[in-house]
Amino acid sequence: MKYYAPHYYAEFRCIANACRHSCCIGWEIDIDAQTREKYRNVSGAMGKALAENIVEGDPAHFRLRADERCPFLCDDGLCRLILTLGEDSLCQICADHPRFRNFFSDRTEIGLGLCCEAAAALIFGKKDRFHLLGMGEDGACVEVLSAQEEEFFALRDALFAILASEAPLDVRMNQILAELGISPLGRTLGEWCDIYLGLERLDAAWTERLLRLPSAEILPLPAWESEFSSLLAYFLYRHLAGALDEACFSADFAARAAFSVLSVQIIRALFAGGEQTLSELIEISRLYSSEIEYSEENLQTILDCLREGE
Ligand code: SF4
Repeated sequence: MKYYAPHYYAEFRCIANACRHSCCIGWEIDIDAQTREKYRNVSGAMGKALAENIVEGDPAHFRLRADERCPFLCDDGLCRLILTLGEDSLCQICADHPRFRNFFSDRTEIGLGLCCEAAAALIFGKKDRFHLLGMGEDGACVEVLSAQEEEFFALRDALFAILASEAPLDVRMNQILAELGISPLGRTLGEWCDIYLGLERLDAAWTERLLRLPSAEILPLPAWESEFSSLLAYFLYRHLAGALDEACFSADFAARAAFSVLSVQIIRALFAGGEQTLSELIEISRLYSSEIEYSEENLQTILDCLREGE
């Protein structure tokens, strides 16, 4: 098995109590069976706290407080489980976040999700062009992929080659769509706004930003080409692989590429209409990611719109 991750991956560090939008607030956190068993053996005050703050089920999960904070998130933003029992005490989801994985028959690709502001800062901050690095000590082993996976990597490489060219980002995005035979995304920003407003929404700050979309413009923003190129690389890397799970690989691959381009256009339009700073770009991207990428239902609704080309 080969493991790959983007060039910035190894530099990721959770910023814990410096994080303005901790992933320990607002998300239901499932506890894997092995960790649940480990927690049963914790004694003393911490054992009692664990017993009181876990809801049993398949899987069990932490009982969020009324303000939606994880019961083990201290007021200073640090994790009481880490402080008391050490980092190894975390359940799989907490230890893993914000990492995501795409699995192939003989390769696993890992990435960092944009819903985490520390990950977003890395994705935008590293100026080298997106590329993957092998991880681990298996450099010599030969990778065995299925025929469809071979096709997938050839197609993806072609899109990343377009993305790596020197042409303006808008030209590259149109070339990517043309390569896959997709016509331009077919709706105005106002129409996309209505579709996004029809999705499940978690944060009022996202709704507030979405409502600005109809009056926004898609501007090239030359000073931010590098950041938006990195953003497109992120979406392509994260989402294209999902096409391998679908019955109609080619159509889904094209829809996922279109989703990547659409996501960049929406984030760029929202960004262009406001304060153009890196922290604002991180915030809009973080919101978009939490609301769209981390809801399978929302993601599928957008993909369906793009598949139908309505
Ligand atoms: S969102 Fe990212 S930086 Fe913030 S607490 Fe979670 S992992 Fe750490």
